[in-house]
Amino acid sequence: MYRNTTCGELRLSDVNKTVTLAGWVQRIRKMGGMTFVDLRDRYGITQLAFNQEVNKDVFEQANRLGREFVVQATGVVEERYSKNSNLPTGDIEINVTELHVLNEAVTPPFTIEDESDGGDDLRMKYRYLDLRRQCVRKNLELRHKMAFEVRRYLDEQGFLEVETPVLVNSTPEGARDFVVPSRMNPGQFYALPQSPQILKQLLMVAGFDRYFQIVKCFRDEDLRADRQPEFTQIDCEMSFVEQEDILNMFEGMSRHLFKVIKGIDLPKLPRMTWADAMKYYGSDKPDTRFGMRFVELMDVLKGYGFSVFDNAAYIGGICAQGAASYTRKQLDQLTEFVKRPQIGAKGLVYARVEADGTVKSSVDKFYTQDVLQQLKAAMQAEPGDLILIICDDDEMKGRKKLCELRLEMGNQLGLRDRNKYSCLWVIDFPMYEWSDEEQRLMAMHHPFTSPKPEDIPLLDTNPAAVRANAYDMVINGVEVGGGSIRIHDAKLQQKVFEILGFTPEQAQRKFGFLMNAFKFGAPPHGGLAYGLDRFVSLFAGLDSIRDCIAFPKNNQGRDVMLGAPGIIDQEQLDELQIKVDLKD
Ligand code: ASP
Repeated sequence: MYRNTTCGELRLSDVNKTVTLAGWVQRIRKMGGMTFVDLRDRYGITQLAFNQEVNKDVFEQANRLGREFVVQATGVVEERYSKNSNLPTGDIEINVTELHVLNEAVTPPFTIEDESDGGDDLRMKYRYLDLRRQCVRKNLELRHKMAFEVRRYLDEQGFLEVETPVLVNSTPEGARDFVVPSRMNPGQFYALPQSPQILKQLLMVAGFDRYFQIVKCFRDEDLRADRQPEFTQIDCEMSFVEQEDILNMFEGMSRHLFKVIKGIDLPKLPRMTWADAMKYYGSDKPDTRFGMRFVELMDVLKGYGFSVFDNAAYIGGICAQGAASYTRKQLDQLTEFVKRPQIGAKGLVYARVEADGTVKSSVDKFYTQDVLQQLKAAMQAEPGDLILIICDDDEMKGRKKLCELRLEMGNQLGLRDRNKYSCLWVIDFPMYEWSDEEQRLMAMHHPFTSPKPEDIPLLDTNPAAVRANAYDMVINGVEVGGGSIRIHDAKLQQKVFEILGFTPEQAQRKFGFLMNAFKFGAPPHGGLAYGLDRFVSLFAGLDSIRDCIAFPKNNQGRDVMLGAPGIIDQEQLDELQIKVDLKD
């Protein structure tokens, strides 16, 4: 037997027991006739004590240990002379009588401590060492627990977990596909699923009624902190449901997770229409941990000779409470912030409400105090508040810029507390959005999303105005999940494809099997998918989803530990009949 206890278990009540532990040497402290070793395993750290006088051989053995050696130690649990209240095992130590080195270790390239001296790249290259660090491992423990509780909840609600294939055809989530060449079908490729969307809909046609799967999805997109080329969805679909049924079911799932994992009683989730989210927050995933809602100021500020505003298609403001004390320098920095190319605003107008209620703005020469007072009233600003205003010649673009400014002010004023959660549903998304690049309407969610029944007539007259039965769950400004009620009528599906610019032949070629399946009795159905990585990183309070993925990829989509992607042998290429012609 390698051990009969772990490094996280022993307490004062275990004193005098003889125990055997195994683990890694975290730290060695030599103090004259005593040597102390912190032994680490997944469960914690226990101090081993070696006393020269009591057992000289073992003491000398301990002095030859190095960091990360794998050892087995047997000894008696004793009360510590100087206790460590930071460790659950900090009241005791093991007076070691027998020590076996199970494996030696070369010195690791960085310290295996919560505050490591290793940079990102180095830690990714040696991810198995990085994963030894408790702060990293605990994110994966949380991930396990969340996935487990998701399964428990959905199982209790009668959902079946069904695996769908990974080698499929292109799926319609609108990103680029990862493809896999088929040796047996030269010149042909599988695509890895961007989601199991079509397959789960077919499972509904098959009568499975309630499906879920915790499943890898693949999208070949440019990477950001909250994106990985492969990521995990909690993918769900239900039959004989309306939007309300789905929202209730998955609000229940979120409530369950918040309760059992975070000990938080989630209040009933507010719902916000997409139109309101855009109007008041400039985003379809508003961070509602704080207010600072947009106020439109076209009526208030136009027509006074300030040409920038007079010519704008949008003027909007936010009121930063208590920020009137911002210095000139801070305001200049905010202006620089909104002028960065990523945001692209032309400038920033500000107005302070002084202690006596008067308003001092950066555009005082165009506006009388009277008008500025109207501004103050519109913004519901109080003495001590700072009003920040952005304008644009495009309404949507203006709102998006103001959104960035609002989030930045939220950061600066400490309003985006990681330990506070604000969840909501965003509903009534538009069916389509215009793509400048493609010069056509594109599905905002995906082409199987059902329009709101009352908007169906608009499909013929004004498709851009059609709203969808689509919804997102948003937590702290992060879209954690989204889905829709699906079209289950082949004719309506055909029409939606037409509006998306597919000819009947193209639609038939791409999705013929789905439309065909619908002819065999498709039940009304709908569903959604959560991004597990995002959900976990929110619960863990992480900046990047990378930290809750065991072996993540870097920003270039590379696994630097495995060296993937890599070059393959000519022989393999020949077999696949693929010619690689790399020009350097
Ligand atoms: N397949 C969708 C997605 O990946 C989710 C859904 O509509 O159920 O976003």
